[in-house]
Amino acid sequence: MLKKMKQALLGGLKTLGVFNLVQNSKWRQERLLIIAYHGTSLDDEHLWNPELFMHPDYLRSRMRTIKELGYTILPLNESIQRLYANDLPARSLALTFDDGLYDFYKQAYPILDEFKFPVTLYLTTYYSHFNRPVFDAVCPYLIWKRRDLILDLKELTGQSVKLDLSKADARDKANVEILGFARREKLSGIEKDLLAAKLAKQLKVDYEYLLANRILHLLKPDEVRELAASGADIQLHTHRHRTPMDRQMFYQEIEDNRSSIREMTGYSGSHFCYPSGIHTPAFLPWLKEMGVISATTCDPGLASQNSDSLLLPRFVDTSLQSPIEFEGWLTGVAASLPRRSPPPPDPKLIWEFAS
Ligand SMILES: [Zn+2]
Repeated sequence: MLKKMKQALLGGLKTLGVFNLVQNSKWRQERLLIIAYHGTSLDDEHLWNPELFMHPDYLRSRMRTIKELGYTILPLNESIQRLYANDLPARSLALTFDDGLYDFYKQAYPILDEFKFPVTLYLTTYYSHFNRPVFDAVCPYLIWKRRDLILDLKELTGQSVKLDLSKADARDKANVEILGFARREKLSGIEKDLLAAKLAKQLKVDYEYLLANRILHLLKPDEVRELAASGADIQLHTHRHRTPMDRQMFYQEIEDNRSSIREMTGYSGSHFCYPSGIHTPAFLPWLKEMGVISATTCDPGLASQNSDSLLLPRFVDTSLQSPIEFEGWLTGVAASLPRRSPPPPDPKLIWEFAS
């Protein structure tokens, strides 16, 4: 459904009292809405990628809406237990943040704290230890920042290719070539960081500024420790933000992630979120064997008792969702409207947070 039509329809349904009816219904009470967020901008990241970053004021306005409409935020573990015990309070929600970007510590957590809302952070740990900009994210960001320039790939990947970054397809090609080069050459974290710095230099972007302000960085172990001590729930998201199809490698991802989290928090994660929302049926028995209690996807919807606990749907809230769409999701009304399924992500551009 077209976005404007959907907004008009939701506005009409609200005026007619349908929002109120649904949010107070038995249907809604038996369901849990798990909301997913990623980053809040430290600078202009929401202008670059509004699906992953939102302005912190926008996040605050979302939290205010939740409070004003009288929703109950439960800690994730409790919300899942009560979902399957058919014991959810009216209008229940759980809040999750993916990846563990530094801005969670600096901005998002303090906002949640203002409202005393519990939160789960799905942390990917490789770049927590190697605390430099996430390569797969910073390259597209740098390229977006200088879309007034021509990029010469020669000194980056060795290709005799010049790309006019004012064109979206040329920016995509630049990203595919640079990310692909780093993967083919199996560059280490340090080598990738040098390549990103070289890209920044050619594009005349101040890489030191990104470092000093921790833009596109993950949380350091000490910051995770502090968050956990103050009540944030830190859970699994793989060590390198990837889910290999090989069983042994998949296990390794969870084990590395789990031991890092244990080191930082003193407890073992037992709730999981699929990196980039990618899941296949093969993962389910593996997760079960590893003692994972729940796993969340990015498939839109509200969870019910019929949901598989290892395939829980979530509403991914972004800067592109208007206030009426957000409210529509809280009530549950938006979940029943027809949606255009998004095109599958280009596998060449799926981020790995790894060397
Ligand atoms: Zn992620």
